[in-house]
Amino acid sequence: MIDPTSDIGEDVDESTAPTCHTCGKKIMQEPDHRVVSWVKDGDISHLHFCDDECREAWSGRRPTP
Ligand SMILES: [Zn+2]
Repeated sequence: MIDPTSDIGEDVDESTAPTCHTCGKKIMQEPDHRVVSWVKDGDISHLHFCDDECREAWSGRRPTP
């Protein structure tokens, strides 16, 4: 668990960090960070997820328990 108030190095700023589209958690150097991107009408869209579980929750595919 990263303490958001501690110095984490790098130039990751909480104000510019992406948030998980499913749970809203700030993604600060999450090792399981997932990005889904696609092209729609000539624009590239991105969604960020903190891990596979959140990505699959968004995509509608539930992992089998
Ligand atoms: Zn999440």
